[in-house]
Amino acid sequence: MRIAVLALQGAFLEHEMMLRKLGIDCFEVRRLEDWQQEKDGLIIPGGESTTQGKLLRDLSLLDPIREAIEAGLPVFGTCAGLILLAREVEGNSPSVPVPPRLGTMRMTAARNAYGRQLGSFHTEAPFKGIDGDIPMTFIRAPYIKESADEVETLSEVDGYIVAARQGNQLVAAFHPELDSDMRVHEYFMEMVKGR
Ligand code: GLN
Repeated sequence: MRIAVLALQGAFLEHEMMLRKLGIDCFEVRRLEDWQQEKDGLIIPGGESTTQGKLLRDLSLLDPIREAIEAGLPVFGTCAGLILLAREVEGNSPSVPVPPRLGTMRMTAARNAYGRQLGSFHTEAPFKGIDGDIPMTFIRAPYIKESADEVETLSEVDGYIVAARQGNQLVAAFHPELDSDMRVHEYFMEMVKGR
């Protein structure tokens, strides 16, 4: 089992540490040559989706990654990663362009969208398929505003969808890699194993 971690910008190191604790091998994707290695899944970290999207485009990674996801490669996107996977994105001011992105999940992501969330907040909430609450750290997070029937809601906070799954694609608006609870990563690894 070997997981690719997109390492262009953002909180990729924290995901790698989480995988290491779970005993899962991983490697960083910084350019096309890295991506061409064998892999069983992909993690797209939080950070700044505009920066990551532009880098993905400029490094010619956007199309090969999109094709791999569409061919069934399991992918887990957190926060900015959720935005990069969303088909539609809302909530950009005119000065902030909609980021180039993968757009493989049939949902609309609302960016920087919580009223109280100009800063960050921490909460705990249920997550479908996991017993008990999950700690959730939100940092200028998006939420899922609309989604197609094939997108299953896994978690909601204050009536907003904050985690969802569409087949081989898993997204969380929060940062499970910043808390010690490993169960969301374990959930993703079950998706990888079940592929
Ligand atoms: N606000 C960021 C964006 O729009 C996402 C924040 C995060 O990943 N923590 O890309």
